Amino acid sequence: MLDHAIVIDMSAFDCVEIDEAAMTVRAGPGVNFDKLNGAMNATTLHVPSGACGNVCVGGFVQGGGYGYTSRMFGIQCDSVVAMRVMLADGSVVVADANNNTDLLWAMCGGTGGNFGVLLQVTWQAQQVPGVWAWAVQFDAADAAAVLLELQSNYMRTGAAPELGMMINLGFHEGQQVLLVQGMYVGSADDGMQAIASLMAFPSAQLLSSLTGRYGQMDVFLDSNPYAIPNPPDGSKEGKRSGYIAAPLALSDWQAVVDYRPPRPTRIA
Ligand SMILES: Cc1cc2nc3c(=O)[nH]c(=O)nc-3n(C[C@H](O)[C@H](O)[C@H](O)COP(=O)(O)OP(=O)(O)OC[C@H]3O[C@@H](n4cnc5c(N)ncnc54)[C@H](O)[C@@H]3O)c2cc1C
Repeated sequence: MLDHAIVIDMSAFDCVEIDEAAMTVRAGPGVNFDKLNGAMNATTLHVPSGACGNVCVGGFVQGGGYGYTSRMFGIQCDSVVAMRVMLADGSVVVADANNNTDLLWAMCGGTGGNFGVLLQVTWQAQQVPGVWAWAVQFDAADAAAVLLELQSNYMRTGAAPELGMMINLGFHEGQQVLLVQGMYVGSADDGMQAIASLMAFPSAQLLSSLTGRYGQMDVFLDSNPYAIPNPPDGSKEGKRSGYIAAPLALSDWQAVVDYRPPRPTRIA
């Protein structure tokens, strides 16, 4: 919350333009990922984007923007080539490699939108004709060992850059499960090889496997093998994240798996 701040509704800035020859994609800050990816589905171009279709470009790109293809192509702000920005005095400027370079630097990455109103962003896109979407579920008994394997061989070292994933520890149909889902920039066969050590765990079940355009596969993973439930409409959601300074041991991961949250608490 800011004192003396105003809220500007940017939802009408929802235009997407694609230049296939130049391999650039341009969008307003009010474009959500269903719309952005939907537009790119008609081409073979791709810009790294988030997993949820209703998140918008404006906040996402300024916060960095991590997605399933970020291990290969970087976070979304890494692909930005230009931003159109309204400054506090009402002037509109372009920030790119030659103009207002410090503003471009400041707008890309965790600024919290403090430097101006983002009116438009242009990215240099990648050629990604297809991705393999996958999801593997593990029983709770394997969860700590799988998490240790992910930490050891799928983070800084080990996994191919083409492989990106999201890891959810939760409950499905009353059973505690670990669900690892992601995308591989390439074929299903190559993707299966890339996750071979995960598939070797006794309880590993490949529940989703489909190849297609990034945007289609993002929508597919949203509800396959099952939707990860969102908090009910109108409820406040508390999230916390952090960096872990040192690798966790198996016993630490087991403590994570065994953690039971206390009763839901009210967030002020
Ligand atoms: C369901 C869900 C899934 C998510 N998944 C991912 C994910 O996969 N990867 C990831 O990296 N992040 C993810 N996020 C986090 C998301 O990137 C941030 O919440 C992001 O800030 C959302 O941007 P927004 O424009 O939709 O939201 P808003 O709430 O509108 O904006 C967020 C912030 O950006 C500022 N801002 C927005 N538009 C402008 C503008 N035009 N000019 C200046 N400032 C502006 C706002 O002032 C505010 O501070 C997710 C969030 C949700 C709710």
